[in-house]
Amino acid sequence: MNQAQQAQHFSEKALAANHILIVAHQNPDGDALGASLGLYNVLQNLHKSVTVIMPNETPSFLAWMPGADRIINYKEHPGQVQTAFDDADLLVMVDFNCSGRVKEMEQLLLSFAKQRVIIDHHPYPDTQLAQLVISNIEVSSSCELMYDVMSAAGWSAAIDRHAATCLYTGIMTDTGMLNHNSSRPETYHVVANLLGRNIDKDEIHKLVFHSNSVNRMRLLGYCLSQKMVLIPQHQAAYITLTAQELNDFNYQPGDTEGFVNYPLGIEGINISALFIERDNQIKVSLRSRGEVAVNKMSEKYFNGGGHHNAAGGEWSRIDMDAIVETYRTALPEFV
Ligand code: 5GP
Ligand code: MN
Repeated sequence: MNQAQQAQHFSEKALAANHILIVAHQNPDGDALGASLGLYNVLQNLHKSVTVIMPNETPSFLAWMPGADRIINYKEHPGQVQTAFDDADLLVMVDFNCSGRVKEMEQLLLSFAKQRVIIDHHPYPDTQLAQLVISNIEVSSSCELMYDVMSAAGWSAAIDRHAATCLYTGIMTDTGMLNHNSSRPETYHVVANLLGRNIDKDEIHKLVFHSNSVNRMRLLGYCLSQKMVLIPQHQAAYITLTAQELNDFNYQPGDTEGFVNYPLGIEGINISALFIERDNQIKVSLRSRGEVAVNKMSEKYFNGGGHHNAAGGEWSRIDMDAIVETYRTALPEFV
């Protein structure tokens, strides 16, 4: 089945469903929220009953997105989420490729006995997880894919300003404002089309990229001036942040978003890592340029995965020295 046929298939399932759930991954980013809420707004316009669920909280810099106020956060409202799962007959999983990415919600997902669909742009989707897997790793983002799928489903007229705002936001955040994963002309056709739906581009950029808290900016300054370590022989860099350091800067969810990209702005650096102690684990973010496959590194050493040039993972053992040593030792294998 090609993507257009899959989109038709998806349309049939969605239009036949009585209640639809949309779920994205733990620590939802702009793309996860944008694709989920883009779909949510369109399904609302099609008069469907639909609920958006996230494993944990929406970062405040994305909480303005149209529909974000209706999201049910599993961490805070597990009972409501359970009820929503009991009542639903279609589950749409957005911006993730395996059940582990929803963390504590994994069992709910796996025990859902009705129709399941994946719409995602990560490599190696778990094809056992859903009856319909719409996976495309060429696109910039799940938001771009969601736009393509909804268009091919025949829902173009229902992609209103609200939906377009969500989808545009996710494309911008996942590509670093069209810096990476954005070399295909098709991406720009989608962006142009979204702009044509009367969205307020300047306002979106202000809300997402130019509304930083002073604490976040100071934490970034601290990372770059005090915590960034360069390993020139491997064209590598890393930054570590302990829970104490986050606390010192009054850390709020989302505050370290994008920090891992900065070392790649240094000439000659092709791989960057960010190790953050939070939620009783070390969260790993990896970014690279060109051939360096950070998803492979993450799979092998950091219990994670992701894209070729952008990946993440985690360690349950909180030992910053050990994780840095693991990274240093792993580098020659990947650069
Ligand atoms: P970030 O560094 O922004 O948290 O994540 C970058 C990318 O890495 C995400 O888009 C996702 O594909 C992947 N990723 C992040 N954390 C994890 C994780 O814990 N497990 C897996 N499998 N992938 C992750
Ligand atoms: Mn994404």
